[in-house]
Amino acid sequence: MGLPRGGYGETVPEGTSASNFIRDIVAADRAAGKHGRRVVTRFPPEPNGYLHIGHAKSICLNFGLAAEHPGGVCHLRFDDTNPTTEDPEYVESIQEDVRWLGFDWGDHLFFASDYFEQLYTVAEHLITKGLAYVDSLSADEMRQYRGTLTEPGKNSPYRDRSVDENLDLFRRMRAGEFGDGAHVLRAKIDMASPNVNLRDPALYRIRHAAHYRTGRAWPMYPSYDFAHPLSDAIEGVTHSICTLEFEDHRPLYDWVVAQAGTLDRPQQIEFARLNISHAVMSKRKLLELVENKQVAGWDDPRLPTLKGLRRRGYTPEAIRAFCEHIGVYKRDAVIEMQLLEHFIREDLNKRAARVMGVLRPLKVVIDNYPEQASEELDAVNNPEDPSAGTRSIPFSRTLYIERDDFLEQPPKEFFRLAPGREVRLRYAYIIKCVGVTKDPRTGEVTELHCTYDPETKSGGPEARRKVKATLHWVSAAHAVEAKVRLYNPLLSADLSSISTNDDWTAYLNPQSLERVTGCQVEPSLRGAVPGSRFQFERLGYFCVDPDSSPDHPVFNRTVSLKDAWARLDKRQLSPR
Ligand code: ATP
Ligand code: MG
Repeated sequence: MGLPRGGYGETVPEGTSASNFIRDIVAADRAAGKHGRRVVTRFPPEPNGYLHIGHAKSICLNFGLAAEHPGGVCHLRFDDTNPTTEDPEYVESIQEDVRWLGFDWGDHLFFASDYFEQLYTVAEHLITKGLAYVDSLSADEMRQYRGTLTEPGKNSPYRDRSVDENLDLFRRMRAGEFGDGAHVLRAKIDMASPNVNLRDPALYRIRHAAHYRTGRAWPMYPSYDFAHPLSDAIEGVTHSICTLEFEDHRPLYDWVVAQAGTLDRPQQIEFARLNISHAVMSKRKLLELVENKQVAGWDDPRLPTLKGLRRRGYTPEAIRAFCEHIGVYKRDAVIEMQLLEHFIREDLNKRAARVMGVLRPLKVVIDNYPEQASEELDAVNNPEDPSAGTRSIPFSRTLYIERDDFLEQPPKEFFRLAPGREVRLRYAYIIKCVGVTKDPRTGEVTELHCTYDPETKSGGPEARRKVKATLHWVSAAHAVEAKVRLYNPLLSADLSSISTNDDWTAYLNPQSLERVTGCQVEPSLRGAVPGSRFQFERLGYFCVDPDSSPDHPVFNRTVSLKDAWARLDKRQLSPR
């Protein structure tokens, strides 16, 4: 079967490698002997939030490239130059998530904050060479002097300060003599450059704020555009891969690296970030949801965070396969959530044990089955994996089936249970509905009476008798009561189609979480370990939530069985 290439509409055979132009660049560089044939990449998160599926794309790309080349390494570097939003909690969770995804940075764990002293030295060096100056315009004035996309900027009146004056001011900035915003260290490049990033960008800003690692040692902090290229250069990174919005920063990246006197210069390469429809992918918005308690936390299964996906039942293998499939391109696109769901279905189909569970139970009494009797029936654990073996499930006179599987007055296309009709119970017998009990007040069906045909048991003489439907069921006396959480998209609209002036939280879907209680699941699920994953036959894949206790399991529905995405309008997968 061909799968639509998310984002590009073309189809490729399953299992084929997706296009990844960065892979080609790195391989060509190595073949040409660039960077001494070394391949050093890095994943550089800012510890200001939890990782999401977009970060997974970057992680798979960077660690994947390193692994493809002998001696290749990928660094995990915390880009922690912004004291007010960073926190050790995030450092911890990011490391857990990268490991969970299946990647290992070995000894290559770095923090940009460890380079503060080195960065400071480079800044002084730039001042000495006349390539940086201390500006004392206010933030507003600086904005006015910067010009616009169509008009050049103007030189600041402080641009021609002498090296000595600049050095003196910069040292006093470091000593903490000035208040926030009093001065800024800027690169002296070109205020008329058509690229606004080259109009004397800020290198250091005064900020009297405690940093989670360096405490109060620094009253000023380096800008991203200064710290990032230097961190790459210090670590000997060869290929610095980032998202497309940094394309216009590349000349500045190269300038900083060149001025710092680095011999083997890292090459910045940009790719299109991953966007997923109807998913909240901005760290700021995720934080807002968590802080306003609109979700249960960073690991809420409705979030595309790695912790959320994991709690939902996603496997690292499925996420990696998804990231490989979507490929790496230069063009922005929105991928449908259904594509991600396709990959978890594929993975769990191979490995998840099949079980039976009834979400909305309807009681069935088998009138001709002996009152106190019960028997054990053989059930296959995973038809995709013979080594998973079989288990036994108890059958008795009183059972539960899914309420949806019965209709008193079935329309033509309904083939499941109805008065006078026969269905097969999975791994058990064919039963026939012979009576319906209703609540006299509401008219609601409360119980079905059925008869069973003992000859139709699997292995029995009538085992192969055909009926139109096979239903899942559990034995009432043996079942374990469970809670199930069903998830729908968190947003009722795709954020990329919403005006930025709109309040995006107005698009939160009030039906994103549906809690179902009083579910009945087969007894083998008693004591199921949080994190374990099952296929509930006919219903979908489910993962045991950490809120479970051994006798009261709680399941998250990872994804339904139906491959809804196969019916997707492929035009939706085209670039916007
Ligand atoms: P911000 O910088 O606004 O805090 P961010 O999502 O860019 O948010 P970082 O911690 O800077 O967060 O991201 C770490 C790395 O992950 C960066 O190299 C970034 O390019 C990459 N990344 C972030 N979001 C995506 C995405 N949606 N798709 C692909 N890569 C991403
Ligand atoms: Mg970023």
